[in-house]
Order: sequence, then C-alpha cells, then structure tokens
Amino acid sequence: MENKETTPKPAEAAPAAAPRPYAGPRRPGGRRFAPRRKVCRLCAEKIELVDYKQTQIVKSFCTDTGKILSRRITGACARHQRQIMRAVKINRNLSIMPYNG
Ligand SMILES: [Zn+2]
Repeated sequence: MENKETTPKPAEAAPAAAPRPYAGPRRPGGRRFAPRRKVCRLCAEKIELVDYKQTQIVKSFCTDTGKILSRRITGACARHQRQIMRAVKINRNLSIMPYNG
C-alpha cells in the first residue's frame, strides 16, 4: 500500500514577527539617563576653602531665589557642600544673599 499523502507545505506558515511600533530604544529597569559621574567643581578648580566673601562662587551654588542647591544637582563633594552651606548662611545674616525670593 502506497501512502501518497502529499501534503503541500504551507508557504506562509510562519508569519513574520509583527514589527513593534518604534517608541525609542528599550530601557530595562526604567532608567532614563546613563549615570554620569559628577565632579566637584571646587575640587577641580583646587579651591581649598570657600570663603563667604567669595560671593560669586557661593551664589553659583544657589538658585535665583536664594536656596542652596543640593549636592545631587551641583555634584559638590561633602566637604565643599558644608563650606558652601556655611558661607550662604553667613551671607544671609549679612544680607549679602536673600533668605527667600
Ligand atoms: Zn569638593
């Protein structure tokens, strides 16, 4: 008995994977930006001690409204952040810098 079962192979058996609508590169973990190592600006400029009289430097670490920017934003090291904090508070007391607004 001859088994002549000639099943024609379906040409369109495997449908191509449906292309996903492009929505940017995938970011597993939900991270948006690659971490970039911040360098303390004052360390880079080899400023050993931030004086309250150096208002240009002190003000560059504050917002326009007089708030002290966090280390997370400025990238200042702990030592310099403390010096900035102290300088800002002295300057506020001397009304060189505003307490608010
Ligand atoms: Zn520093």
